[in-house]
Amino acid sequence: MICGKCGKNQAQKYILQGKEIFLCAECRRKEGVCPECGTLLSEFQKTGLAGCAYCYTAFRDEVLAMLGKMQGSTRHLGKVQSERPLDRYEETRELVREHDYVKSKLERAILNGDFADADSLKAQLESLNKKLYPGVKK
Ligand SMILES: [Zn+2]
Ligand SMILES: [Zn+2]
Repeated sequence: MICGKCGKNQAQKYILQGKEIFLCAECRRKEGVCPECGTLLSEFQKTGLAGCAYCYTAFRDEVLAMLGKMQGSTRHLGKVQSERPLDRYEETRELVREHDYVKSKLERAILNGDFADADSLKAQLESLNKKLYPGVKK
């Protein structure tokens, strides 16, 4: 399949909010696409909706940048659209932070061969994933 964005390169198929889209590696990088579920960064920025919990990791810098921007401009919330993502990001920010923390602990536990620890950390990560994106089915 040919990339739906640049129309030049060989593309990979993604399912994005029920729609099939085709993006090549180059456009994917430029667009910012979650490698797990194919959610576009631009979509995510618009709606505040992630396709999977990994989106928050994939777009972490952008999420944090958006949060910073939004917090600075809460008084100028002229657009109705921007309210929903703001709420979601606020909630999400702490979860993302916790997710990162647990994930780095898990990585360390695995490196150290601490499998009892790793198991309970994995369970923690899973419940965080569920909170981060309750709609996701894996
Ligand atoms: Zn392309
Ligand atoms: Zn994703």
